[in-house]
Amino acid sequence: MDTYFINKKEWNKYIGEKSAEIKTYAPYESTEPLLSNGTQFVKTDNNQSSSLFWKTVNPENVDNVVYDRMHPVAPLKIFFFPFKERILPAIGNVEPFIIIGATNCDLLALDTTDKVFINNDYKDPTYGLRREQATIISIDCQKPDEYCFCELWGNRTYPEKNFDLNLTYMEDGFIVEIGSEKGEKIIRGIAKKEKTAENSMKIRESIRKQTKNIVQANNSKYKLCEMGHIRNDIPACMENKIESPGWKSGAFDCVQCGACNASCPTCVCFLLEDFSSRVSFSKTKIWDYCLYQSYAKMASGVSPRSLLWERYANRLLCKYRYMVKNLGIVGCTGCGRCISGCPGKIDKRKILEEVFKENGEYI
Ligand code: SF4
Ligand code: SF4
Repeated sequence: MDTYFINKKEWNKYIGEKSAEIKTYAPYESTEPLLSNGTQFVKTDNNQSSSLFWKTVNPENVDNVVYDRMHPVAPLKIFFFPFKERILPAIGNVEPFIIIGATNCDLLALDTTDKVFINNDYKDPTYGLRREQATIISIDCQKPDEYCFCELWGNRTYPEKNFDLNLTYMEDGFIVEIGSEKGEKIIRGIAKKEKTAENSMKIRESIRKQTKNIVQANNSKYKLCEMGHIRNDIPACMENKIESPGWKSGAFDCVQCGACNASCPTCVCFLLEDFSSRVSFSKTKIWDYCLYQSYAKMASGVSPRSLLWERYANRLLCKYRYMVKNLGIVGCTGCGRCISGCPGKIDKRKILEEVFKENGEYI
């Protein structure tokens, strides 16, 4: 794909002007606490002094967009599959919008949400509209936190697909890779740009290598099965693990808050809620959380997974086994949000290791 070098001043001028015409979102740093007890959900990494939050870009704040860190706290899916959305009466129109700062873990997760909401026999029209109207400008991660583990599952720290433009931030500007016609149109609208020089591509390679090394070093102590396995295979060591005692130790510190579900870019479960009165009717789609006791509960009050450890096991088996069987995609991209956001400080990597180790199955 074609690549260009664009000076940061030129890029900011273009995005500042664009943001006045089209709703544009990007990551911004914030040190504001989300929770009063200062848990990890506020600072995703003890080495980092702030977290990243999606905000609306405007010509005044365009210089503060963050291009050289990692993913924001909220997953990219919120732009396509919002927490709560009316589906009846149907939303007939979605205005075009731009998202800047998507990372590879979130872009790969679009394979899962697309498969569930549009690439099957039953389509979600609003999800489809939002996907069509979005322009996605992604970035290479450069400062992953201690919870990111994409490389452990064979995923990269930089985007390879599902973007319109990808930016690699360098001191004075960006290497911009075109990923689609939408992206090409943006590049045509920027007057000052240069074809990428060989030296810039070497710098991009070294940035990518450096980030990969950070993720690999942070995860070197975890011996997960089939490390770096092909993404769409079911790890053999996940077979026959429904009754594993490892799930019980995982669930021991779980407070059933649902943060792991809410922050996950591939969680797709939702509830439908009806509101009716004499004069109107509406149906709303709301995220559902499989760690909640009420999840999948039937009208009789019976739950298929009444015990917490069963729900915990189900969440992980869903990601690494059921989604692979049903969708052909591993339902975890290694973003690490379910680890950084867990108030019980449960590190899923340790739990998986424990489960895999049973019967001496891990490699
Ligand atoms: S984030 Fe942690 S405590 Fe909350 S539901 Fe998930 S596993 Fe349980
Ligand atoms: S399961 Fe956890 S690490 Fe995997 S994609 Fe979801 S939030 Fe990220």
